[in-house]
Amino acid sequence: MRFDIMTLFPEDVDAFLSSSIIGRARKAGLIEVVCHNIRDFTKDRHNRVDDYVYGGGKGMVMQPQPVCDCFNYIKTIVPETYCVYLSPKGKKFTQSKAKSFLKKKNITLLCGHYEGIDQRAIDMIVDEEVSLGDFVLTGGELPAMAVVDAVSRMVPGVLADSSCYEDESIYSGLLEHPQYTRPPVYEGIEVPSVLQNGNHALIAKWKLEKSLEITRERRGDLYRRYLKKKKK
Ligand code: SAM
Repeated sequence: MRFDIMTLFPEDVDAFLSSSIIGRARKAGLIEVVCHNIRDFTKDRHNRVDDYVYGGGKGMVMQPQPVCDCFNYIKTIVPETYCVYLSPKGKKFTQSKAKSFLKKKNITLLCGHYEGIDQRAIDMIVDEEVSLGDFVLTGGELPAMAVVDAVSRMVPGVLADSSCYEDESIYSGLLEHPQYTRPPVYEGIEVPSVLQNGNHALIAKWKLEKSLEITRERRGDLYRRYLKKKKK
């Protein structure tokens, strides 16, 4: 799977996506991430990529020319790429959206900055707008990295096996039970004894009970959906 990221900060994005599990997946050739500097495509003699907002208003808007030319360049390498604009106006990014992106072979992520991107560029090249949540960030880089991370960890081979993400919060439909590691006692607090007794049936029962408890407490929406699905 290949991700092309259009950004004004390619070095920062590339550095983050070169570490840990995603970095190893890139090295192993399981995923490909290519960062493009939108500024490299500007035809402005002062290297500008933004300008004042038509109609007045504070801040600057990214101009359509460098954005579209950058995307057209990407299309010369990957003609079939699905273009996603990270935007607070987009549909909320969820695990099921991540799963749907997994089916695409090539995704281009467009990161805005300043007040955003000229609407004409969005209309011309973007297939879908996606938001990381109901808050506004200064740029689309963090959301783009979140999308690459969330999708890539489901690419076969990136994690040890699919149970690593299928058993986790949200994907499983519930929130995960608490996790513990060594030492068995820390600051006088002991790991629940059931997890130490080796009885797999009891452990599974404990995990499910805790998972249901925490989901009911924190995410009534998920809990109700789970009960409804179970009834069917
Ligand atoms: N003026 C825009 C608005 O009110 O919708 C916000 C622009 S924001 C300051 C700059 C850029 O950050 C956006 O173009 C987008 O790429 C990114 N961004 C900000 N918040 C985001 C969010 N919640 N999800 C995804 N991208 C976001």
